[in-house]
Amino acid sequence: MSTSTSPIITNPDANGYFGQFGGVYIPETLITAVRALEAAYNDAINDTAFTGEFEELLKVYVGRPTPLQFARRLTARAGGAQIWLKREDLAHTGAHKINNSLGQALLTKRMGKKRIIAETGAGQHGVATATAAACMDLQCDVFMGTEDIRRQRPNVQRMKLMGANVVPVESGSCTLKDATNAAMRDWMATSENTHYIIGSVVGPHPFPMIVRNFQSVMGREARQQCLEQIGRLPDQIVACVGGGSNAAGIFYPFINDTQVGLVGVEAGGRSQILGDHAAPLNFGQPGVLHGSLSYVLQNDDGQTSDVHSISAGLDYPGVGPEHSYWHDAGRVRYTACTDEAALDAFKAFTRDEGILPALESSHAIAHALDLASSLPKEQVVLINVSGRGDKDLDEAIRLLGGTESL
Ligand SMILES: *Cc1c(COP(=O)(O)O)cnc(C)c1O
Repeated sequence: MSTSTSPIITNPDANGYFGQFGGVYIPETLITAVRALEAAYNDAINDTAFTGEFEELLKVYVGRPTPLQFARRLTARAGGAQIWLKREDLAHTGAHKINNSLGQALLTKRMGKKRIIAETGAGQHGVATATAAACMDLQCDVFMGTEDIRRQRPNVQRMKLMGANVVPVESGSCTLKDATNAAMRDWMATSENTHYIIGSVVGPHPFPMIVRNFQSVMGREARQQCLEQIGRLPDQIVACVGGGSNAAGIFYPFINDTQVGLVGVEAGGRSQILGDHAAPLNFGQPGVLHGSLSYVLQNDDGQTSDVHSISAGLDYPGVGPEHSYWHDAGRVRYTACTDEAALDAFKAFTRDEGILPALESSHAIAHALDLASSLPKEQVVLINVSGRGDKDLDEAIRLLGGTESL
């Protein structure tokens, strides 16, 4: 990691780069659509009719602000710094993803488009987008690999109940990567009347910036809540990193508070062997994936690698370009947590706090427990609890060896 002393860039340049990372690596036919999106977004955020409607939706529909909570028993377990929680598990649909889907659905209406499409793997982004479509009366098609449709039946049912059409994708490994390619292909033919809601801080510019900004409501709230409830800013903020949207959203409003340490936790999986984890910032190299240049897990020939994680939401070979920039600039530290450590944290957290965390969030919890135990009692470690774990219950119980062993 190279540590630069120059100030941190907080917005992409005119070509969509955060330092060396980002850009617009897409077919010619989509250039008009992403340019129109950028123009519509810049116009919208300067219009109080748009920002006011978004804020109102976040308040009355999502239930924001989500609470900032002191984790008393978890703090005692760690025996060091105080642990505080940003409770995104309490947002409508049970995770942070709804913030982005609603923001982009509002943009869709503003652009005069009637249809939204999305890709989904575990189904969480599909559910958030189907929810936004129902709320705003938009037609919605969600692309999903047939293997994921089989594994994620309850989310498929939710999407269908909300009126979305789930489009089965039967190519490649029939999972997220293939669903993303199918959504891109659809968009090339339909961008005139369709907006593609990308679910994390990935994809071609301006998506990483737009998603980060819609998700930054978490960091803005947390900053104000820390000042009100603790009387100062936290010493460390810990968030899990899949594509990187919950981490970017909570980190961004603290990026210039250089006294606040920021830690992103990737999926360390089963081992450090390529194919056994999903940790591109720990083990990948710069490359182009899904429209932008960023760290990617790839083999010696530059082919995107297969990935593994206990949590479906972290199971992605790439990461948002701004994270790659923060990594190389030394502003955010990126570490990885194994499947086993995440499962232990899932169990401990539920037992201590009476909150079932998502397996994704459990990666952040595992690292935060270690970190807090190494820090003095006056310090504050804030965890972004990105989502609730009801969706992971069957899988977690199976991995823990059944309820009899609890
Ligand atoms: C999708 C998801 C993630 C991973 O996505 P990011 O873009 O990295 O935030 C993390 N936590 C939960 C609960 C999710 O649903």
